[in-house]
Amino acid sequence: MDGFQTISMQRAPTVTGLPGLAAPVQRGLKSAIGCVGIGLHSGRKIAMSLNPAPAGHGISFRRTDLPGTPEIPARYDHVVDTRLCTVIGLPGQPEVRVGTVEHVLAALAGCGISNAVIEVDGPEVPVLDGSSANFVFLIDCAGIVEQNAPMAVIEVMRPVRVQDGAAHATLLPCAFGFEASVSIAFDAAAIGTQALSLRVTPGSFRAELAHARTFTMAGDVERLRAAGLALGGSLDNAVVVDGDRVLNPGGLRMADEFVRHKLLDAVGDLALAGAALRARLVAHRCGHALNNTLLHALFSDRANWRPVASEAVPFRVSRSPGARQHDQRIAAAAA
Ligand SMILES: [Zn+2]
Repeated sequence: MDGFQTISMQRAPTVTGLPGLAAPVQRGLKSAIGCVGIGLHSGRKIAMSLNPAPAGHGISFRRTDLPGTPEIPARYDHVVDTRLCTVIGLPGQPEVRVGTVEHVLAALAGCGISNAVIEVDGPEVPVLDGSSANFVFLIDCAGIVEQNAPMAVIEVMRPVRVQDGAAHATLLPCAFGFEASVSIAFDAAAIGTQALSLRVTPGSFRAELAHARTFTMAGDVERLRAAGLALGGSLDNAVVVDGDRVLNPGGLRMADEFVRHKLLDAVGDLALAGAALRARLVAHRCGHALNNTLLHALFSDRANWRPVASEAVPFRVSRSPGARQHDQRIAAAAA
């Protein structure tokens, strides 16, 4: 057992001082809580609830408006679209999909939540204010409980790099927890070039990332609307940039809100690994597609990663429909 595994078996009170994506025990929600909001792309009013789930379940989404209330595991290999947001679905069932999952997944990962069922009665998660702040508020209202199982952690063992034109992302081995260095470069002068490095912990996620809103270019808004997308978008749920101007009357929440949101998105997208990552992310101009490609590249070669967990970790016992194959892959690799 190496030093990290020893740490991973410790219980509170060290929990709050450890990286949120590598907390030593699994955490879940104490109670269910819900809200109603607008879907960014559908423009529909959508009811969402965050519900407790047992240790070992992982994060999943459930469509309560569809026959049989199908459940979709929040995992990278269930991503079916990444063009404007991250969309997950079930193979061969195109109607069973949930879009804009990244901000609520970032909130859960940022708060160190391993297990939850997110119910929605429509095709996407409500956008709320375009950040993760309201989801963190809901999580806090529901309450967080420690569960009687060690946290599952995926340790990155060697660099894994993906590239798409000028955009690139690399996962590197990391001594402890999850760290990220993200940079962006936009022609719009209001954004320009921004960079941020952060060790992501529950504290730093809440303080530095959770409030950063999604953003778009004014010129793209009409194009998206004409394509039947972003129908629910407004200055209430996105920062809209026109050249050197921010069109929102209240301006920005932080001067570098844009790169902070990019890092927030990366936390949410990489939560689709299905377990906490022990890694360092270095990325430039990354987006949902590249983030998902990065996870596919990570898991494409067993030498890239290893599970860091005790025998008691319920990798092998999953109650989440469809999760078994992924769990078996991790279990086989651990053997
Ligand atoms: Zn986003």
